[in-house]
Amino acid sequence: MTVEDVLREIKVKVKEVIPSDIQITDVEFEGPLLVIYTKHPQKFAEKEHLVRQLAKMLQKRITVRPDPSVLTDSKIAEKRIREIIPEEAGITNLYFQPDVGEVIIEAMKPGVVIGKKGALLNQIKREVNWTPKVVRTPPIQSKTVQEIRAYLRTVSEDRKSILRQIGRKLHRGVSENEKFVRVIALGGFREVGRSCALLHTKDAKILIDVGLDVSSDSNGSPYLNLPEVLPLETIDAVVITHAHLDHSGLVPVLYKYGYDGPVYCTPPTRDLMTLLQMDYLKVAVADAKKIPYSSEHIRELLKHCITLNYGDTTDIAPGVKLTLHNAGHILGSAVAHFHIGEGLYNIVFTGDIKYERTWLFDPAVNRFPRVEAVVMEATYGGKADLQPSRREAVERLRDIVQRTLRRKGKVLIPVFAVGRSQEVMIALENMIRNEEIPNVPVYLDGMIWEATAIHTAYPEYLNNHLRTLILHRGENPLLSDIFVRVDSYDMRQELLADPDPCIVLATSGMLNGGPIMEYLKAWAEDERNTLTFVGYQAEGTLGRRIQKGWKEVPLIIRGTHTTIKIKMDVETCDGFSGHSDRGQLITYLNNMSPKPERAIFCHGEESKCLDLASTIHRRLGIPTVAPQNMESVRLK
Ligand SMILES: [Zn+2]
Ligand SMILES: [Zn+2]
Repeated sequence: MTVEDVLREIKVKVKEVIPSDIQITDVEFEGPLLVIYTKHPQKFAEKEHLVRQLAKMLQKRITVRPDPSVLTDSKIAEKRIREIIPEEAGITNLYFQPDVGEVIIEAMKPGVVIGKKGALLNQIKREVNWTPKVVRTPPIQSKTVQEIRAYLRTVSEDRKSILRQIGRKLHRGVSENEKFVRVIALGGFREVGRSCALLHTKDAKILIDVGLDVSSDSNGSPYLNLPEVLPLETIDAVVITHAHLDHSGLVPVLYKYGYDGPVYCTPPTRDLMTLLQMDYLKVAVADAKKIPYSSEHIRELLKHCITLNYGDTTDIAPGVKLTLHNAGHILGSAVAHFHIGEGLYNIVFTGDIKYERTWLFDPAVNRFPRVEAVVMEATYGGKADLQPSRREAVERLRDIVQRTLRRKGKVLIPVFAVGRSQEVMIALENMIRNEEIPNVPVYLDGMIWEATAIHTAYPEYLNNHLRTLILHRGENPLLSDIFVRVDSYDMRQELLADPDPCIVLATSGMLNGGPIMEYLKAWAEDERNTLTFVGYQAEGTLGRRIQKGWKEVPLIIRGTHTTIKIKMDVETCDGFSGHSDRGQLITYLNNMSPKPERAIFCHGEESKCLDLASTIHRRLGIPTVAPQNMESVRLK
């Protein structure tokens, strides 16, 4: 069946269901949505059951839009909307998008704009005919979020035609002959970095993650040149589990080489991955490294990005439905569940997961309607990979901070901008609020502030406890005034010379560049200070060397080579990791409901992938495999 046939059939069914006094002007696919244009949006809105009935009958996500001819003049509409929404909602911006008949309302309290059971939104819809969309104003300004929202507004016409094209391609109908499902390992198998897999069915080709191995100077790219992948135009969709560069770093390169399809991810993943990709380009240019793409390709990616919230089930290719679930790893990180061919097969790609409640997130989801196969990370899948619990980690950090501050020293913590920093920030805020450690300033240097700002824009993605604190009690520990942003060279120089005790979180996490280097140089020779590692230190990095006890290390700061003596205390505080340890990985699979029939392991050193595969095979009695890059596994 061609897409024209599919649409024609849908139009007939829509006309049968909709009463004749509601005039339908067009029915069209836009990305995964079926959009119905009507001259009577208010009447449509009054009959709430209609959309539900259509969605159920057609098995599609449905959006109703006003026909452009019935939209109230935007100036009059804005005046009316501002009258309807109570002052306390704190509207910071209103934008009209005539091409889709939407008005974007940016507000401090989206819940107030929405009203009880959506009452206010419905009223707006009824009175001005525009469809209101509510977004949260980040309480601390995030340049990234602002720029992305502004950019998407300027390209909205373009985006609409892209979405129509995507929608038509994805609803082209499925063929009737033999079915199959297979997974091809393209990167990040028996290794960490450049994560990428192809999910290949009779009717669809989907890439899951397109990562970059940042530690590699030569071949940091997954095997995108295999015949199954090329030409890139044959790929139906790309799904990104989370923003870390080893999962999202090379997505823009697809647009450089001819891909023009959709990228699905959560809204925070879209924003964080843009931040990290832009930063990656900036650093690569500064280090005179070869860059695989330019910012133009990141913008192209944004234009093609379709965001999904946790739990939204969406058609992403003929015969394939995707649902993203919380992965507990970093903000917006997702476990991706694919439902293939009306009950033919279900496969879950975990991405990176944390199966434990952390300061920021709920544990990774492992309950699904159905699941036959799981493709799972094995970062800490080795026999010795047991980590202390969150509680033990926090106790240890508290001891380190107490000891250092007592002797009037400074605590220096190297962190990654996304994930670990916010986790440690909340732990420290908690300690200071409970007066377990003295009330000293906690300085944030590097991209941490910007990444934190993005966190504050999406409280819905944090754990239950934080969500309640932020949304119902108006308390956000990430906004505490103990945190001080170091936002200029001068301010950093001042801080470096300041004799008072303090805590500093700075990037990069493994001491291979970034502002942390300057603090290290200034403070390493003072015995009262402590350098505290909270994240994984890869072999070959300066962080690993200092962790191993090197007392004299070479440093390069702003192009100048020096050697420094490490006299400060060096401590490691395990347990803040965003990854599950071995025990948690095993429990995650063991508790999975329903029980999967087989498991495929990736995202770990070779020995860890193999070890976890054989352990799971023994304990759960299911077939397991740890394929190498370029191998394929047929599942059905
Ligand atoms: Zn990750
Ligand atoms: Zn990863």
